[in-house]
Amino acid sequence: MASVDNVNVDGNQKHSEVIIIGAGIVGIAAAAVLSEAGHSVLVLDRTGICEETSSGNAAALAFSEILPLASKGVMKKVPGWLLDPLGPFAIRPSYAFKLLPWLYRFWRASSADALRNSTQVQGQMMQLAEKEMLALAERAGITDMIHHEGNLELYESEAELQAAMSGWEAKKQAGIDFKVVRGAELAALQPGLDPRFVVGCFVPKWKNVSDPKLYGQALWAYAEKLGACYQQAAVSAIAHAPVGAEIRLANGDVLHSKKLIIAAGAWSHHLSAQLGDAVPLETERGYNTTLPVGAGDIRRQLTFPGHAFVITPLTTGVRVGGAVELGGLTLPPNYARSEAMLKKAKQFLPQLKTEGGRQWMGYRPSTPDTLPVIGYSSASDNIIYAFGHGHLGLTQSAATARLVTQLLNNQTTALPVSAFSPKRF
Ligand SMILES: Cc1cc2nc3c(=O)[nH]c(=O)nc-3n(C[C@H](O)[C@H](O)[C@H](O)COP(=O)(O)OP(=O)(O)OC[C@H]3O[C@@H](n4cnc5c(N)ncnc54)[C@H](O)[C@@H]3O)c2cc1C
Repeated sequence: MASVDNVNVDGNQKHSEVIIIGAGIVGIAAAAVLSEAGHSVLVLDRTGICEETSSGNAAALAFSEILPLASKGVMKKVPGWLLDPLGPFAIRPSYAFKLLPWLYRFWRASSADALRNSTQVQGQMMQLAEKEMLALAERAGITDMIHHEGNLELYESEAELQAAMSGWEAKKQAGIDFKVVRGAELAALQPGLDPRFVVGCFVPKWKNVSDPKLYGQALWAYAEKLGACYQQAAVSAIAHAPVGAEIRLANGDVLHSKKLIIAAGAWSHHLSAQLGDAVPLETERGYNTTLPVGAGDIRRQLTFPGHAFVITPLTTGVRVGGAVELGGLTLPPNYARSEAMLKKAKQFLPQLKTEGGRQWMGYRPSTPDTLPVIGYSSASDNIIYAFGHGHLGLTQSAATARLVTQLLNNQTTALPVSAFSPKRF
């Protein structure tokens, strides 16, 4: 790993042109694109490169996922889901009270006007996401890590498909291709499915990465080749300074940079609050189990919308998981959730060998309206936010990196960023 050689040291004060807090996929992509644009970049993370939420996700480049989480279909299902403590959507009772303001905003984001607006914005963001991700992978020489088998969404009845049809129609209007499949066509897309799945929607242009941690690390290797540096450090405080930003580390060191990017995932609001921006960021905790290579013949990502989990074939195994648990950043994980999804996966795909898996929990950084926070801080245009991507951080990382680079360079952005403003709440 490159040493911190683009940092000028002056006593115990260090200076760097651009500092990024967070080496998740968003921070890594930003480091790559900013380095391409000629900036000297230092990335700080308390853990490592792509070690936290970005390491264990479902690996989807889900460019077709333009519907906000608070869409009507989901809002109708939530009460039923809440009755099952290990079901697709749960609230940890000890966290429920703290969650009320976010839940209120989430409910407001489900109004017809709000949904129309966020679906349209998300559609534009996804077009940029696809263009930027494929181009970045090409420049980084990692296109072989992107798989193009598409996604198969599975329904247990025609009525369940019909209930989802308004969402599919909205996607169609946004130019997203899908095909309803039944019978032999369905069986060819994924052999061995339990017969309860009578119909599916196949999205051919959906893509996956081979393994999200390896992909993030490969992208980092590219950024590093362009000169980006990494330092393991926990940031305890930030402030704007006359010519940029001041970053105080937990070990007492103080860094200075001309520009600061906050890409600290689900922890970003702790930092933005220090600059006067109270962003309603919650975490939707998600769980999974990664089974060993050869655990099943999985032809492409399989999505079970009625159960809110997916099965993803990775080069490093088979990943089974998803679900949403609203429980904040400090409560211990409840891996009974991973087990519950694995048990269902075995019922849905009896050939799956479910032994020897590794359980994991990650913290999706989620805003009530499903849109990320990308924009200047209130304190200073030298401090830029890049967080809050919820279920879609891998998918939107390269687009976010492009927007951040344009904001930092005071250029016109590829799409209007007002919808992503930290002040919109
Ligand atoms: C189960 C699950 C499945 C998912 N599936 C998908 C998917 O298929 N496709 C998709 O696009 N997205 C998916 N997501 C969402 C995606 O993983 C996240 O949106 C994305 O990882 C967020 O990336 P990030 O870089 O913003 O945050 P993170 O990956 O969390 O990185 C933030 C980094 O900031 C560091 N940090 C925080 N605070 C500090 C501090 N004070 N000092 C120093 N360092 C700090 C942390 O150590 C961390 O490394 C999934 C998420 C989960 C949980």
